[in-house]
Amino acid sequence: MEIGSRSGAAVKAAITFTLARSRLDGGRNLFSPVAVLAQHCRSRAYRTAKACPIMKLFECQHCGQPLYFENTRCESCGRKLGYLPGKETVTAIESDRGAWRALADGSRYRCCNLINWRKIEAAKHRLFYTLLKLRLPHKTRIDDPRQGLAFDFLSPQGATAGNPIMTGHDSGVITINLAEADDAERERRRREMREPYRTLLGHFRHEIAHYYWDRLVRDSPGIAEFRQLFGDERQDYAAAMERHYANGPPRDWHEHFVSAYASMHPWEDFSETWAHYFHMVDTLETAGAFGIRVKPKISKGADLAATIDFDPHSATMERIIAAWLPLTFAVNSINRSMGIADLYPFVLPPPVILKLAFVHERIHAASQHSAAGGGAPQQDAEQAGRRALRAVVAGLRRGVGVPDPI
Ligand SMILES: [Zn+2]
Ligand SMILES: [Zn+2]
Repeated sequence: MEIGSRSGAAVKAAITFTLARSRLDGGRNLFSPVAVLAQHCRSRAYRTAKACPIMKLFECQHCGQPLYFENTRCESCGRKLGYLPGKETVTAIESDRGAWRALADGSRYRCCNLINWRKIEAAKHRLFYTLLKLRLPHKTRIDDPRQGLAFDFLSPQGATAGNPIMTGHDSGVITINLAEADDAERERRRREMREPYRTLLGHFRHEIAHYYWDRLVRDSPGIAEFRQLFGDERQDYAAAMERHYANGPPRDWHEHFVSAYASMHPWEDFSETWAHYFHMVDTLETAGAFGIRVKPKISKGADLAATIDFDPHSATMERIIAAWLPLTFAVNSINRSMGIADLYPFVLPPPVILKLAFVHERIHAASQHSAAGGGAPQQDAEQAGRRALRAVVAGLRRGVGVPDPI
């Protein structure tokens, strides 16, 4: 949480306090972040700020010092300042039980860092792009007040004793710790957790997978196959987590899981795999949109060739895998030419390809289900099973290895 920045443009630095109000009063933000930011940007203060850098004069509610819109701290009494879009005023704020009290109206607020907020919104939009392209059902909290999707983007400074801000999912509510939008902080956590990849988009894709596990797997006929592939999710989650953090992942996790974290519990394995599937279809679509073809100029180049001339959102798993491996081989090599980390720092062993095929099948069963208006057809599952096997075979025949990590 940062109270603006003098270096940025006035509006970029201005802090909106409105967002968390409902939360402090026991409510949720639902999809309000977009609405509130939009409302803020349309506000008179914003328009005036763009047109005239002087604009209205404000005063500190504590000491009476005249304030400019650009001020982030009172020059006289040193109090931090924020902006209340609803009241169109700059207000002095004081720390109050993990939140802030605005002297302009005496109410408590949380404040948000607009720059971090934008990064989180951009990642969320990309998440929804793929949800929509895959025709996945996505009821909001308004459509379904008990289990619908809602998002909380919370500052770690809003944490209270015994109630830390954790990125996670709970019955449709996805919480993202705002600290993850800070690149330096996220990189620090990535190193600490020894992860090859940690992004806001990855967090969204992982957390929403927990939501879809509840919807598409838990009560579906696919639960038996899930347990075969991922393990029995009825094992004690807290004990699994404790074991994971105490002992680390199993030594041979690379042969069975897409990430070390996935080895902790079948739920996490599913989420990591699901997120991975999203990475694949989105990246393949982008590569296809640029007309990228891979045709290595070596004698066995045909084995590494791929033309991405299909829509990965509706393609078979076999086709996705067949294009994916050569593409990642190429893009990793390109990144290494620039001396930067691999775009795709993962290896896909056969068991992970089977798990990806399971995710693929569940997603397409759900989209066909919603398109047909109900009645998940049994034959879909059987077809998907065959597709999964072909996908594995395709993956193995390619024999494409990812270069050793730098
Ligand atoms: Zn003051
Ligand atoms: Zn998780």
